[in-house]
Amino acid sequence: MEYVDPLGVVRTDHARTVIVASYTFETVRLLLLSGGLGNATGQLGKHFMVKQWGDVYAHFPDTVFNAHTGPAAQMVTLDDFNAADFDCVANGFVGGASLNVENQQLPLQIARDPVPPDVAAWRRPYQEHLRRWPHIMAVRIQPDSLSYTTDHLDLDPRYRDRSGLGIPVLRVTTDMRPNEHRLQDHMQQQCTRILERMGAVQTWNGPRFRGVASSHDLGGARMGDDPRSSVVSRDLQVHDTPGPVRVQRRHLPHLHRDQPAPDPHGHHRPSHRAADPRPSR
Ligand SMILES: Cc1cc2nc3c(=O)[nH]c(=O)nc-3n(C[C@H](O)[C@H](O)[C@H](O)COP(=O)(O)OP(=O)(O)OC[C@H]3O[C@@H](n4cnc5c(N)ncnc54)[C@H](O)[C@@H]3O)c2cc1C
Repeated sequence: MEYVDPLGVVRTDHARTVIVASYTFETVRLLLLSGGLGNATGQLGKHFMVKQWGDVYAHFPDTVFNAHTGPAAQMVTLDDFNAADFDCVANGFVGGASLNVENQQLPLQIARDPVPPDVAAWRRPYQEHLRRWPHIMAVRIQPDSLSYTTDHLDLDPRYRDRSGLGIPVLRVTTDMRPNEHRLQDHMQQQCTRILERMGAVQTWNGPRFRGVASSHDLGGARMGDDPRSSVVSRDLQVHDTPGPVRVQRRHLPHLHRDQPAPDPHGHHRPSHRAADPRPSR
């Protein structure tokens, strides 16, 4: 294997197997820069996926939540809208979502929280809003993220990295689609219904997020049996260069609403799973 080190020196390594595991963006970029390794059928960089988020906030004047305490991972999660018997298609979209309440709401994070539509985000109205913060909670929506051929990674034709070697940076093309908006509409309604049933005197929606640097970016080197629609095989070998090169972790055909690192749902599932409207369980 030949590579360029950070000082621009070309080096050679000999190995039986090379594992490319430099996170989603750099893995795809390295393969694209290596003469399009894995791109014999034009699939490299396709099916990029990012995690989605959404929140519904609520005010409970008589309850103090202490939401700044405890680790975020101690969250409470409701999986009813993600379960096998949740009929997403009957509700007009594909996929599900978990609804959860997180701890560890720290000051800078709180400052970024959206305010209700009737509160100005500055001066006295904002100060008064912050004073009632202990009585505010949010239900966080974590939906499935589907894979789309239109969401992709490629080499930027114009911008270059800072190495001084004139190497292109990666260009990311992604956006929320109508299905994601319908799913978020439904989940926001469910959150509002639950919060009102709990006694909230006011609820308001936060922004919907499906953007780059969600820290849960997947795809670009899709796993599948058919090289015409995937980049790596079920044992993560690159289809067009079998044997020496393996791609780690960028292969998942579908970003389940769960966190990607433990990889409990998608690992070793070929790409036909992407056609399954239900999240794998
Ligand atoms: C704040 C935060 C919270 C998260 N919480 C969770 C969670 O609760 N649960 C969960 O499952 N996931 C969580 N994640 C996501 C999880 O951390 C990532 O999915 C996982 O770490 C990705 O692992 P990776 O090995 O693919 O990439 P990384 O861990 O990013 O490793 C890539 C490595 O490649 C190196 N590298 C990059 N480019 C090159 C290059 N050109 N040459 C050589 N080396 C290179 C990097 O230095 C790095 O060491 C979270 C992420 C963040 C940021």
